[in-house]
Amino acid sequence: MSREPLFKMSEAGLFCPRGAFYVDPWAPVSTAVITHAHADHAVKGSRRYITAEPGKWVLWSRMGQHARIESLKYGESVDLNGVHVSLHPAGHILGSAQVRAEYKCEVWVISGDYKVAPDATCATFEPIRCDTFVTESTFAQPIFQWQPQEVIFSEIHDWWQANQADGQASFLFAYALGKAQRLLAGLDSSIGPIFVHRDIDTVNSHYRQSGVTLSAARVPNAGMTTAEWNRSLILQPPSARWKQGFPHLGHYKNAFVSGWMTLPDSLHERRVHSGFALSDHADHRELLGAIAATGAERVFVTHGYIDEFVAELRTLGYDAVAQRTPRCRRPPKVQSPASL
Ligand SMILES: [Zn+2]
Repeated sequence: MSREPLFKMSEAGLFCPRGAFYVDPWAPVSTAVITHAHADHAVKGSRRYITAEPGKWVLWSRMGQHARIESLKYGESVDLNGVHVSLHPAGHILGSAQVRAEYKCEVWVISGDYKVAPDATCATFEPIRCDTFVTESTFAQPIFQWQPQEVIFSEIHDWWQANQADGQASFLFAYALGKAQRLLAGLDSSIGPIFVHRDIDTVNSHYRQSGVTLSAARVPNAGMTTAEWNRSLILQPPSARWKQGFPHLGHYKNAFVSGWMTLPDSLHERRVHSGFALSDHADHRELLGAIAATGAERVFVTHGYIDEFVAELRTLGYDAVAQRTPRCRRPPKVQSPASL
């Protein structure tokens, strides 16, 4: 007779009945184990949070200063009602973690968001052996194949210098938590002055507080000169269209940094001049490699190209199951190789 699964989906999210805790719940609960601080994985109001040590300042800034946050070093385990829980690097953003839960020789790993490529601002993804693996599938289609980040940084530097030569500022849109800091850690600040939106500056301070080295970057103010503007690179969140604050300063070019820039219509859809496909998620091949490295027989697929990836994993012999949640939005359609 098979026993009750270690985790099941509940109204508040993925729940471990035996351990009485949730992973990344979307409603307040008693104990929330958090894979990382992005808004679609961490919500306010839980009585107790458990997160990886490197991400605790970032999580505090998001959950509020009164939140009760306990942190674990990577690999350190805690006993939650007899379930051994430990956190392991997911390589997504600072402090991102895979949650490993073990009970009576059964091991589950819930990956959260993850990437396997190197990132100077966070610990590198670590494959963890398990029986059941819960994977994201944000970019689980063959069209998504990342270039090494050195290539992307070099393209960004070339674009920045070309804009300087035309006397234009360079606006780079990047998510405020994670992507912006990865860019700051890799950009060559000898090319010109780097400015950041205040929301990015706030996250930068938490990264620095956690010991991450980032290029110097200032929030621009009214004293910014045209000469500075013409040479500057300005990082801002995608939601901010910030040029409005500096109408007197001159022309600019803008670009979006995201794995979605792989898609053919991305420049038009994001209303930008250029795009750079640098992602904090694994690409299609990396997802397959990461799953194989776990040795898991059963794979739950969430967040992204769920149906397509479940079908592919089944052809590869996995017991793959869709794990749809209210947070799962249908991703953009991509052409399958068969229809090209
Ligand atoms: Zn994330």
